[in-house]
Formats: sequence, C-alpha cells, structure tokens
Amino acid sequence: ASLREDVKARLRDVPDFPKPGILFKDVTPVLADPHLFRRVVDAMAAPFQGQRIHRVVGVEARGFLLGAPIAMALHAGFVPARKPGKLPWRTRTERYALEYGEDGLQIHEDAMGPEDRVLIVDDLLATGGTAQAASRLVTQLGAQVVGFSFLISLDFLPGRQRLGADKVCALLSY
Ligand code: IMP
Repeated sequence: ASLREDVKARLRDVPDFPKPGILFKDVTPVLADPHLFRRVVDAMAAPFQGQRIHRVVGVEARGFLLGAPIAMALHAGFVPARKPGKLPWRTRTERYALEYGEDGLQIHEDAMGPEDRVLIVDDLLATGGTAQAASRLVTQLGAQVVGFSFLISLDFLPGRQRLGADKVCALLSY
C-alpha cells in the first residue's frame, strides 16, 4: 500500500481534545510503528535532499520527534524552537496569536546565522501561526527559510498560503 494510505490507517482522530469541538489528529501510533516511522521520516526529508539544508528547526514538542531524525537524514544540525522559559541560553522570541490569547516560541540566538539554509518541521499545519513564528525566529537570526515539512496539512485553513504555498511540503492533506 502507499505511504499515504498506511499513515492514514495509523493516525488516530481524537474528538474533543484538548478542548470540546476540536478533532485532534494523534500521530503517536505512526511514531510507534518502527517501519512506518522510518518511511515517514524519509518521505518528509526527501523534497529537501540536495537543497543544502544546514539546520532543521523542530517546533515543540512533536516537531522535535520528527525534526531530529529528518535532520540526520539531511546531514543537517537540529535546533529546537521551544515555548518561552525552557531554553537555558540567550534567546530570541516571537509571539503569535491563538484562538484565545497568545503564545510564544524561542530559539537560542547562536543556533544559526546568515550562512544557514533552514528547514522548519512540525507534525501538523493548521492556521500556520506556529510555523510562521518559527520562520520569523530564523529570519531574526539572519538565516534563510528554505521550506517547511509537515506530516499533515489542514488545507481548509489558511496555513499553507500564509507560509507561501511553494515552500510547504506535507505528506497528507485534509
Ligand atoms: P497552527 O499554529 O494553527 O498552524 O497549529 C499548529 C500547531 O498546533 C502545531 O504545533 C501542531 O502540533 C498543533 N496542532 C494543532 N492541531 C493539532 C492536531 O489535530 N494534532 C496535532 N497537533 C495539532
């Protein structure tokens, strides 16, 4: 069967998580399947092989789980983008809007620089606010965002257009 079909069969839809009315796509069964996990990592890295990616930024927390092995597949370094207050060294911060209120992401200020070509990785693209904040952090440090790689993109939301459709890769779209 195709990779897409195999991933679809393993994704778990959880109603009313983390809040009533939200249908949460749970990727943990994909990660728990040894063969499927490897195929997903290779497929998410594939569009960026040969694109001279120096750093992969993984967004807390599921972006770490996919971003670290994708970095290895691309022979790139891994950089975590974390929620405020979690990183120990000097950081840059970007705030972004949530449905109610706001949140933030931080990155270590010495994690990359003007020479670096960067790929941003997360499990799921919804409104694009989170990935856009990660992208602004990369830009703050003078580095270049080459693209974004997601396992899932919710294409009834504006995330893909917000990030620039030509830069976004997703294994599955809904
Ligand atoms: P956005 O900022 O609206 O694009 O939301 C994307 C962020 O929320 C990512 O970090 C995702 O991990 C997380 N997220 C939103 N909805 C889901 C979901 O259904 N499953 C897994 N993660 C989700």
